[in-house]
This record gives sequence, C-alpha cells and structure tokens, in this order.
Amino acid sequence: MRIANILVCMKELSRIYVLLGLITVSCVSLIYGSATVLATPEVTGSRIGVHPNSTRLVLELSESVAYQVFTLDKPYRVVIDLPEVRWRSSRKPMMSAIGLVSEFRFGLFQTGNSRVVLGTTAPTKVSKHFILDAEKGAPPRLVLDLVETSVANFSPGRMIKSAGWKAVVQPRARQPDPYRLAKTGRHVIVLDPGHGGVDPGTIGVTGAYEKKITLAVAHEAKKQFEATGRYRVVLSRTRDVYVRLRDRFEIAHRHKAELFVSLHADSIKNRKVRGGSVYTLSNKASDKEAASLATRENKSDIIAGADLSGFAPEVSEILIDLAQGATNKESWFLAEMMVKALGQRTKLLRNSHRFAGFAVLKSPNIPSVLLELGYLSNRIDEKNLSKPKYRRRIARALLQAVDTYFKRKSKLRKP
Ligand SMILES: [Zn+2]
Repeated sequence: MRIANILVCMKELSRIYVLLGLITVSCVSLIYGSATVLATPEVTGSRIGVHPNSTRLVLELSESVAYQVFTLDKPYRVVIDLPEVRWRSSRKPMMSAIGLVSEFRFGLFQTGNSRVVLGTTAPTKVSKHFILDAEKGAPPRLVLDLVETSVANFSPGRMIKSAGWKAVVQPRARQPDPYRLAKTGRHVIVLDPGHGGVDPGTIGVTGAYEKKITLAVAHEAKKQFEATGRYRVVLSRTRDVYVRLRDRFEIAHRHKAELFVSLHADSIKNRKVRGGSVYTLSNKASDKEAASLATRENKSDIIAGADLSGFAPEVSEILIDLAQGATNKESWFLAEMMVKALGQRTKLLRNSHRFAGFAVLKSPNIPSVLLELGYLSNRIDEKNLSKPKYRRRIARALLQAVDTYFKRKSKLRKP
C-alpha cells in the first residue's frame, strides 16, 4: 500500500472513531438523561378530604412509591416518609383545619428521604393506607385515612411500613483533615441557613420562605468571605433540606470552626415592625419577644417530625452553664460588631442585640450568634430580603464584622 493510501485509510478510520465517539456520547446522555428523569418520582398533587368516619389524605404521584407512616405527640402529628421526590404540587399554608388535619408541610427530610408532616387537632390513628394504581387517566395515588383515637390508645412512634420501604442510611460524615485545615491558614466559619426541607420557617406576607432567604444569604456570604482568601466557609446545609438543630452545631465542631453564625428571618403580628437583630445565648431572655422567638426557632425539629426520643431532652441547662465565660464573651463581641456593621448598611431594630435560649447556639466552645435578618411579616423587609442586591449588602456587613472580630483577636494575642 502506498503512503498516500495509508493516509487516506487512517483518515477514514479516525472519522469512524469520531463518529463512534459521537454515537457513544449521545447514547450515554440519552441513557443518563432518561435515567435521571426516571430516578426521581414526583408528587403532582395533594388533597385532604373529610369523609363520614375519617379524614383522607391523597398524594398524587408520577409512579407508585414505597412509604412509611408514624405518629408523634407533643404536638400531635402524622409523619409520612417517602423516597426523595420532587414536589410539583404547591400548597398554600392552611388557614383552618380540614377534618383532623390542621397543618400540612412537606419537603426534603434528608438526602434520599422526602417527608410530609401533618399537624392534627387530636390524637390520630392511621386506619387505612394503600397505593392506588393509575387508572382511567388518574395517576397513581397514596391514600391515607386518619381517625381520631383516645389518648390512652394513641401509640406514638409505631411504624407502618409499605412493602419495599427501605430506610435511608446516611453515610457517616467524613472528618475534615486537621492537617489540611491548618495548612490553609484560613479561619473556618460555619454559616447556618435556618430551617430547610420539611421545615419552611416563617412564610412572608407575599409568600417568601424563610428557608430560601437564609440559604441565599449564606451562599452570598460564603462567596464574599472566601473571595478575601482569609476564610473557609462551611454551610450547615447547601440545599433545601432539613438539618436537625444539634447537627447544625456539630458540623461546626467537626470542622473545627472558629465561629458559628445562624441565619433566620422572623414574623410578627404587627406588620409595621421591621429591621434585623442579633442574638446571643442566654438562659435568661433579654425580653419577652426574644424568649418567644427562641421558642419558635427551637421548634424546628418538631416541625420536621424528627423523632428525638433517643436523645436526652434539650441539653439546655448544662450546656448553657458551660457556655458561660470566654465563649460567651466572644459571642457577645461578635454580636456587637455585627450590630455596628449591619446598622451602617441595613435597617435594625432599636434594641438590636438581644439574648435568649436558642438551641442552635448551645455550642460550648465555639462563639455563636443568631442573626434575624428582618421580618417577613413586613412588606419592605420581605421585598428587600428577596433581592440579591440587598443580600449582598448584608453579606458585606457580616464580612466587615467578622474581619473586626479577628483583628481584635490577633491584637489581644500579641504581647
Ligand atoms: Zn427561623
């Protein structure tokens, strides 16, 4: 074969390879594409109806799924666990009870596990539960009938499992490598976007979700902090998922964080009230509002239907005692710096630094503050917090406060 022929031959071959490559790539994307569509079932609708002897919940699904149901008390709840699903159905917060159901919440409980939490007006028993297959144009449905039961017959925590239900086992969180942390020379900070997943937090006058706003502020702050090269920022959650309160500050311990900042936004009856505020931990609240705010924020685990029976009741008092002293002074100083920096750029409440018994701040040795970004019950605050520009301003103020905090610390360390 002459060289020219060989070259032509090679050219042909390479063309075939390119073609084969293209076919492979498109096949893979086709398979992958359809796999991702198939992998996540969807909830396309939800209904609650009152029947003569029961209250019926119907979830419309894109395909039938396995599920688990259990009830909890204090307050009375029915919890329905599903595999991770996409919520295509939106629901407005319930204004009044339908049958036994007074509240309806849904969202991601943990990776691989979505959840519906129903608040009920009385102790409740699941009398029937089944999946209806698709028929006559109707999609597959999960049907749950609830009936009232007596306090004596109420059995919280008893699991009802459908065939094929598999509990999600979370892989153990990897411990960050302390050597690598030391080498970076950057301060480690944990930002904690409040609420998430099945716990939406407060819902604004025109429908803004606290859980979304806190996450957006955390992402923006992470970006600005890390751009300086001085900080490494770990978020306690990076997406719309529920995280237990105690896990939030345990993340800070695992990463050997030097600061912990929890982000929230509040609601209040008086819609005229607006402005942010900064909170530090105390077993005695600075005022009545701070106390009731802490009570509301501490309910996150209850709202998410977390079964906390395996844990000691709030570690509260012991940890608060431990937290006195140095850590509290540091938290106090950071809070003061935040009030100063935020006050220059955003609207704050009059007594902007307050204190109360927030569960999420109960880390014994990491200075921790909780920031209420504003009131979602106020139109201006809600509108501002929904704007990226305003969130950038908040993030800048946080960065300024944290910079001042560390500058002071390094000064104190010098002889
Ligand atoms: Zn909150």
